[in-house]
Amino acid sequence: MNPQATTETEILRGDADGIARATALLRAGACVALPTETVYGLAADATDARAVAGIFEAKGRPRFNPLIAHCADFESAAREGVFNADARRLAEAFWPGPLTLVVPLADGARVCDLARAGLRSVALRVPAHPLATAILHALDRPLAAPSANPSGRISPTSAAHVAQDLGGRIAAILDGGDTVIGLESTIVACLDGEPRLLRPGGVSRAALEAILGRALADPSEHSEPTAPVAPGMLTSHYAPRARVRLDARMIAPGEAALLFGGTVPEGMVNAVAVENLSETGDLREAAAALFGAMRALDESGADGIAVAPIPDHGLGEAIMDRLSRAAADRG
Ligand code: AMP
Ligand code: MG
Repeated sequence: MNPQATTETEILRGDADGIARATALLRAGACVALPTETVYGLAADATDARAVAGIFEAKGRPRFNPLIAHCADFESAAREGVFNADARRLAEAFWPGPLTLVVPLADGARVCDLARAGLRSVALRVPAHPLATAILHALDRPLAAPSANPSGRISPTSAAHVAQDLGGRIAAILDGGDTVIGLESTIVACLDGEPRLLRPGGVSRAALEAILGRALADPSEHSEPTAPVAPGMLTSHYAPRARVRLDARMIAPGEAALLFGGTVPEGMVNAVAVENLSETGDLREAAAALFGAMRALDESGADGIAVAPIPDHGLGEAIMDRLSRAAADRG
């Protein structure tokens, strides 16, 4: 992915005006780099799939991995995820702070499916940084925020790093000086069974185990569907039940159609169900619609999903990565 540098990136001071401007931009669906105590995050409204698609576009990420949703406080986080006793204990001990908890999605959660990569679990964190906290309180909704670097590059610990790497690709950078920890957050999954350490980071294993009163399991010992084998690498992911066929121009009997763009291939008009990712051929709109469309077609009861050709540039690469994996899963 190679988004063009067309945006004039505003550099905002870490004062009341900067907070107000960053909040207004985020509310309007833009991507803004913000300081947290770990590293600078590239933030967007986690409840708005189109805004979240902008994160993947700006970072040039070739795949949609689930993102951490940052919340103002425990109460806001508890609206998004279900906290069991272990998760509650860890949140009480380490929030605000560099600990991310992966928990089951709550009923009525607002974090969109693109930010969760279609999973029924959600990664939540309450950051300990006055600027991030002020914006989260003002917005009153969670912010998805992976590190503010292009895919494959080192995480930024200053506003100058972000400007070097993402200048021209994002709406604004809020300057909060150097980050204190400079390491990413520790990620712990509290799903069913024992809590598991998914990624080491700013909170040590020993500190977590002291609060839990027992040893943390390793992800490699288990093969639950949401366990990443390495940061960003999920062993499994949202996969439709229906067989997925790529680059289709004809519908087979019983198939649904996943379309892109204004011209529907003639052989695809008779599908049992149809979703169009973007009638105007806008890849960002398509990324935002992807997981919902796959779920809707799967639930239509179709035997298979025929996917019309999708461009492989820009966000098309991540869209095709996800669809290819869905296709490979079912042969
Ligand atoms: P980043 O936002 O780039 O710091 O990375 C977020 C990390 O959290 C990635 O390693 C993801 O694999 C992991 N993660 C986020 N959500 C989930 C989830 N629902 N289940 C498992 N891992 C997750
Ligand atoms: Mg990163």
